[in-house]
Amino acid sequence: MIRYRLGCSSGHEFESWFRSSADYDVQAKTGDVACPLCGSTTIEKLPMAPAVVSSRRAASVKPQAEHAETNHNPSELAALRAARKTVIENSEDVGTRFAEEARKIHFGETEERSIRGNSTFEEARALFNDGIPFGVLPRLPEDLD
Ligand SMILES: [Zn+2]
Repeated sequence: MIRYRLGCSSGHEFESWFRSSADYDVQAKTGDVACPLCGSTTIEKLPMAPAVVSSRRAASVKPQAEHAETNHNPSELAALRAARKTVIENSEDVGTRFAEEARKIHFGETEERSIRGNSTFEEARALFNDGIPFGVLPRLPEDLD
């Protein structure tokens, strides 16, 4: 498993896991890799950002080579899983109504709370353009199967 930090033609950044670098190349070529914010399939690999860790450790993170590949790192994966579990346990699943609910919460039309769900690229782009904050849960290796 390889994690890549990717950027789209509109300047959005996101991360995704792939089985291998060859798998990424094939998916990128066939337009299967799309930006979660705008749906653009004009994607390029970005240099990996240093892992988010405590500030003391971050100071010692060595800059990585451009287009570096991060191989499957069990502790990092465990941290991502834990982060995702926290999100899932502390949010309400609103399914495909995500964009609608996020908008209502942002404009104070409904109770403020944490929600999660799915949205189409068009919905995500509209939220992004309207300045409504939301996050994209990282795609984990088990999501590939
Ligand atoms: Zn984008």
